[in-house]
Amino acid sequence: MYCRFCGKEIKDKAVVCTGCGQPIENAEGKSIAGEPWSLMVMVGLVVATLFVPPIGLVFGIMGLMNEAKKVQGAILTTIGVFMSLLLTAIILGL
Ligand SMILES: [Zn+2]
Repeated sequence: MYCRFCGKEIKDKAVVCTGCGQPIENAEGKSIAGEPWSLMVMVGLVVATLFVPPIGLVFGIMGLMNEAKKVQGAILTTIGVFMSLLLTAIILGL
């Protein structure tokens, strides 16, 4: 197939164009990158967020920007914000 941005020939399974770096969509017009995180990844991210809230905020916002990961992103963002507030309260001794 050919890149719809720059017209360079690329492999059918390519995720990004090797010519211009744009993300490639497959035949159904659905982005290959548009898949939700697997349960394993999600559990890992939630656990990481409990200890390091910024991880949840970063991945949460990344998820919110991706249609397929929107719900997961919202969950991570919520946990990230909650843990940030909780840690701030602990640090400030409230
Ligand atoms: Zn291209």
